[in-house]
Amino acid sequence: MTNSAEERPQTALVVVAHPDDAEFGCGATIAAWVREGWAVTLVVCTDGGAGGPDDATDVSAEARRRISDTRKAEQRAAAEVLGLQEVVFLDLPDGQLEPTIALRREIVRQIRRVRAVRLVCQSPDRVWAPSYALGRYHPDHLAVGTAVLAAVYPAAQNSWDFPELLAEGFMPSRVKELWVIAAPHLNHAVDIAATFEVKLAALRCHVSQLGTDQTALAERMRAWAVERGEPFGLALAEAFHRVEN
Ligand SMILES: [Zn+2]
Repeated sequence: MTNSAEERPQTALVVVAHPDDAEFGCGATIAAWVREGWAVTLVVCTDGGAGGPDDATDVSAEARRRISDTRKAEQRAAAEVLGLQEVVFLDLPDGQLEPTIALRREIVRQIRRVRAVRLVCQSPDRVWAPSYALGRYHPDHLAVGTAVLAAVYPAAQNSWDFPELLAEGFMPSRVKELWVIAAPHLNHAVDIAATFEVKLAALRCHVSQLGTDQTALAERMRAWAVERGEPFGLALAEAFHRVEN
C-alpha cells in the first residue's frame, strides 16, 4: 500500500430511499464514524416528491417539485449536522422505486466512485412479526435493499458486470462490510451515547416531515435506542445486521 492510500480516509456509503431515512436509521452511527475520521457519502434514491400531507389535494407535478426541493434542502442541512462528505440524489420518482438493473447500475457506480469499504442500506426483508408495522416496510425501502444487495455482490467488484462503467473509468471495487438497517436479525450494535444528540439535531432539519416540535419524537427515538442497545449491553444504540464480504 502506498503512503497516499494509507492517508486517505476510509469511505462509507449510505444508500436509502428518502430524505430523513438515514437520520432515522443510522444518523448517530454516521456521526460516530465521521468522528472516527471516516468519509461518508449519502445516496438518496428518490426525489422525495411524495412526502406531502396524505390528504393533499394539489398533487400536481409542480407541487411534487416544491416538496422535493424542500426535502432536498432539509437533507443537505441534516448532512451538514452529521458531517457527511456529500449527498447524492438519484432523483427517481418517490413511491415508485423498483430494484431495476438501472438502479443497480447507479449504486454500483457510486460504490466504485467513492471506493466504499462500508455500505449501509435498508433491509429488503418483510417480516411478519407480531409487531408488524406498515411504515417500516415502505415499498421504496424494500426496493433499495434489494438493489443494494445486488450491487454489492457481485456487480461492484466484478468487471463483467456493467462494462459501460469500466469505459467511464469506474473500476471494480469490493465493499468489505454491509450494514443493514431494520433487518429481521440484528447482530451488531453501535454505541451512540456520544452522538445521540447529533442524530436528534439532524432530525430537526426535516421540518416538512416531522414538524418543529419534536419533543415526542425525541422521546420515541430515545426509547428505541434503549431497546436496540439492551441485548448488546449498551445504554443507547443503533443496531444492524452486519455482513462481511
Ligand atoms: Zn423512507
